[in-house]
Amino acid sequence: MNDLRELYQDTLLDHYRQPRNAGRMADANRTAEGFNPLCGDKVKLYLKVEDDVIMDARFEGSGCAIATASASLMTEGIKGKRREEALRLLNVIHGMVTAGKNADDIGKLVVLAGVHEFPQRVKCATLAWHTLKAALENIETPVTTE
Ligand code: ZN
Repeated sequence: MNDLRELYQDTLLDHYRQPRNAGRMADANRTAEGFNPLCGDKVKLYLKVEDDVIMDARFEGSGCAIATASASLMTEGIKGKRREEALRLLNVIHGMVTAGKNADDIGKLVVLAGVHEFPQRVKCATLAWHTLKAALENIETPVTTE
């Protein structure tokens, strides 16, 4: 278990230090902004959705390690997914992080499971996902985790 824990931490740190898909997207057709007042994390998500498939995803933001790593892992994980698959993934991640539910078919995103043990970090980890939901549902007011 300790090895696993370290692996999780390594993956999270790697995504924090070298966020994947960071930066704005000029031809995005869905965007949303999210804010976590508890920690000060901010994220702006850019999606290119065609025929209900997420063709591309990028994000900009300033946040703590968990918020940044979660956004990086999320953009990687949702590319090529259909809208409903991405929303299902979001529900699985949410259940895993907030309630400690098991999630075994979500690939690398399982590294976020450890966040459940740090209640004050849960909103950092879910911010990008709340923002994803807003982007997919075309909600234009910035979302907040509060
Ligand atoms: Zn945070």
